[in-house]
Amino acid sequence: MIDVDLLVIGWGKAGKTLAGRWAKAGHTVALVERSPQMYGGTCINVACVPTKDLVTSAESRRDSDEPQQFFTTAVASRDELIGKLNAANHAMLADDPHIILIDGTARFVAEHTVEVTTATGTEQVTAKQIVIGTGTTPRRPEIPGIDSPRVYDSTTIQHADPFPARLAVVGAGFIGLEFASMFAAFGAQVILLNSAERILPSAEPEVASEVARTLTDRGVTILDKVRVDAIEESDNHVTVIAGGTRVEADAVLVATGRTPVTADLCLASAGIEVDERGFIVVDDQLRTSVKDIFAVGDVNGGPQFTYISLDDNRIVWDQLTGTGSRRRSDRVAVPNTTFITPPLSQVGLTEAQAREAGHQVLVACKPVAKIAAMPRPKILGETHGIIKFVVDATDRRILGVTLFCTDSQELVNLVALAMRAGLTADVLRDGIWTHPSSTEALNEVLADLA
Ligand SMILES: Cc1cc2nc3c(=O)[nH]c(=O)nc-3n(C[C@H](O)[C@H](O)[C@H](O)COP(=O)(O)OP(=O)(O)OC[C@H]3O[C@@H](n4cnc5c(N)ncnc54)[C@H](O)[C@@H]3O)c2cc1C
Repeated sequence: MIDVDLLVIGWGKAGKTLAGRWAKAGHTVALVERSPQMYGGTCINVACVPTKDLVTSAESRRDSDEPQQFFTTAVASRDELIGKLNAANHAMLADDPHIILIDGTARFVAEHTVEVTTATGTEQVTAKQIVIGTGTTPRRPEIPGIDSPRVYDSTTIQHADPFPARLAVVGAGFIGLEFASMFAAFGAQVILLNSAERILPSAEPEVASEVARTLTDRGVTILDKVRVDAIEESDNHVTVIAGGTRVEADAVLVATGRTPVTADLCLASAGIEVDERGFIVVDDQLRTSVKDIFAVGDVNGGPQFTYISLDDNRIVWDQLTGTGSRRRSDRVAVPNTTFITPPLSQVGLTEAQAREAGHQVLVACKPVAKIAAMPRPKILGETHGIIKFVVDATDRRILGVTLFCTDSQELVNLVALAMRAGLTADVLRDGIWTHPSSTEALNEVLADLA
């Protein structure tokens, strides 16, 4: 029987950060992780980092590079990087004498008692405070044929073998878009099956069409309003059937959302509530229905990003240390990036959302190729894209921006900070920015506000 001040279930961003901080503050901590391949969590091992490593490799491929060979080399380099990060993450906590690391699968047996099934038996752990950060896994919709070995999810596709010369991607959310763009760059013929009227239905329409045009230019065929009924496997290929449409491919990636990892946690034994989809119900300070048990990261149903999980850690930290001041509702101007090529980033309101919220708006929108005072995309040879700002006409504060351009994953953070600080668009328009940089776009695009 192990008794600690804090028990963390799952090695994700929030969980590992809290474990490390609480131990450094001199408290006893136990951290349970069910898979050594997941030391460091989803982000490090199967999501953000490995996929962006593959995107970067794919972007460096020349037309003359043979796809299978190029992909195999890229995967080997991805595996090497991830192996190092996994080990570094393990060492970070393993070296702390206040932390007990347990390799095993946790499930609740009572409010503050967890049983961990390990390779050698079971271990009971009790703790005053418990943090559940068990994350999400790819959702497998109930489609006949989905269990075919040619059907991959976002984790398994990263080691697709053989490299699919023809890839059908089911789902055009951010994960589907990233893999569609990446596999096209690796040299695959990609068909993107999108169930909505258009891709990115809630994005700025000008931006959504520019993204569609860019993906199409790169060799991605987009089929809108398509719902997959079945997947049929034959000797050497697979056919995706969607109404009257039949798409033949060498492999299928199913990217239709993620499911919380709560089914095996026996949360009912502790009286911890979940919603109808299985996400753990939490309040504004990430408290579950049971006192001193928190849920952090993807599993609490919030936005599924690593930096949200990191911010969840800050909220729980405040609870542990007694100030309890930080809340989810404090979050302002939370940006996001979809790592297609070039990256697509967004923060704040779109024009339609701003008008619906009652703002008088000014808009500035310019295709990247027409921004004369921003040579960086031309230097990089990546002039696809468009930038659209939405500004409040009464006080000229920035309400939102969508940046589909080189370096947008950095630029969006600058705009988000300006929004949090309540700066006007004029401050960004008249800013002194380095040259040549992508930030220079702000000088020119915002001069067009109308
Ligand atoms: C393909 C892909 C790309 C992504 N790209 C980005 C990106 O570019 N930027 C970004 O911000 N976000 C990205 N995300 C989202 C991001 O990866 C997640 O939001 C983040 O990793 C969630 O972290 P977490 O704290 O919820 O826990 P996770 O990192 O998911 O960790 C949960 C851990 O709990 C363990 N576990 C589960 N059940 C148990 C149990 N019963 N006992 C013990 N251990 C258990 C799991 O093995 C896992 O290690 C991406 C996601 C995917 C799938």
